[in-house]
Amino acid sequence: MRGKYVVFEGIDGSGKSTICTNIAKELQKCGFKVLTVAEPSKSDIGQLLRKYLKSSLVDQKTLALLFAADSYDIQTKFSEEYDYILSDRNYFSTVAYQMMEVDECWLFELHRYLKNPDIMFYLNVSVDNALERIKLRDKNKELFENRESLLKIKKNYDLLFTEITDLKTKIIDTNTYSISEIEHMVLSELHKNFN
Ligand code: ADP
Repeated sequence: MRGKYVVFEGIDGSGKSTICTNIAKELQKCGFKVLTVAEPSKSDIGQLLRKYLKSSLVDQKTLALLFAADSYDIQTKFSEEYDYILSDRNYFSTVAYQMMEVDECWLFELHRYLKNPDIMFYLNVSVDNALERIKLRDKNKELFENRESLLKIKKNYDLLFTEITDLKTKIIDTNTYSISEIEHMVLSELHKNFN
């Protein structure tokens, strides 16, 4: 069961980084070797992406290419030494964010040679709750974090997750569950599928 690749997806404020970090701690407590990654990364490619996200300096196709480069670069760290690789976002984010302006098939094609997740959790939250949480989290706002954009991106995520047929996915409604309840659901799903 080495190297199970577990991805958390959802709009900003859906709880990805919180759940990802806490699940990593729980799995480590159980003795598993865990790698956590996030997209965009902290590498030079990731830094460039963050700069462009804040400033709208490049078009959406260029952004999509940079995101894809970041995804491929991140996956070079994946190795058999880990029991679990937990990722806060993966290429589904690029598709959900860029499909408003860029052809969806081209976006999927860019990611053809990436390792696919063994399981992907879609943390589904309403835009109103997400915005409340983002406000409380008190971080710098990035290009996508406004109500109108989040509504469109959420619609794209909702659509994408109904279309996926070839990957194991689990949708969790994070409006109604506490962080610890969600962790419990994720851990039991991992246990059910991989132990
Ligand atoms: P993301 O990584 O998806 O942008 P975060 O993990 O940073 O989201 O979560 C945003 C904020 O919402 C954090 O302050 C977190 O503690 C809070 N939060 C996350 N999930 C829940 C939840 N299910 N219920 C209440 N608050 C939550």
